[in-house]
Amino acid sequence: MAAVCVYCSSSDAIDKKYIELAAELGAALVEDGHSLVTGGGAVSMMGAIARSVRSHGGHTLGVIPQALLEFEVGDREADELVVTPDMRTRKAAMDNASDAFIALPGGIGTLEELLEVWTAASLAMHAKPVIVLDPFGDFAPLREMVDSLKHRGFVRPTALNVIEWTTTVEEAIKAIHRPAPEVFPLEHNEVRDV
Ligand code: AMP
Repeated sequence: MAAVCVYCSSSDAIDKKYIELAAELGAALVEDGHSLVTGGGAVSMMGAIARSVRSHGGHTLGVIPQALLEFEVGDREADELVVTPDMRTRKAAMDNASDAFIALPGGIGTLEELLEVWTAASLAMHAKPVIVLDPFGDFAPLREMVDSLKHRGFVRPTALNVIEWTTTVEEAIKAIHRPAPEVFPLEHNEVRDV
């Protein structure tokens, strides 16, 4: 069993297919024996995945900064709700509590969280799976940008090895079990091998 941290949208302006995707992933996580770690919001995809996990009998840990809780959008039904003084403490607490990370479509908050755990994995600061579940192609421009940066030597090729791009819930669940590939952060010369 893994504690799986899911990053996803907090927006209420999105198509309902994204809410359904979050709920579908929640059910699949429980079915595969995992618990959920989230940013502790009750809104949008964040709320949908947490409610889905609980309704299927799974455990949810929410980690929310005091300021967001005060907006009354905290997931007060969470099995555990940790309130942190600020955003940085929140992200560290979510990372420490999690064995794997899945990013669903989201906005700049989701992108920031994904890039942080991806960067840390690329530098061998952790060996936890970093997975993107992107059934509708929302991450295509990011993939293109990172690929282009790699071709121009800005992104080390091994950075691309530590992220799993998936398009179905089933693939994302499988990727939780995949051992992370080795990276060698001190071999700086590899940036020339592009
Ligand atoms: P975004 O992808 O821009 O929608 O942002 C998702 C991230 O925004 C979350 O993981 C949180 O860092 C933050 N956030 C925004 N609203 C909330 C909320 N109501 N509850 C918890 N976190 C939120």
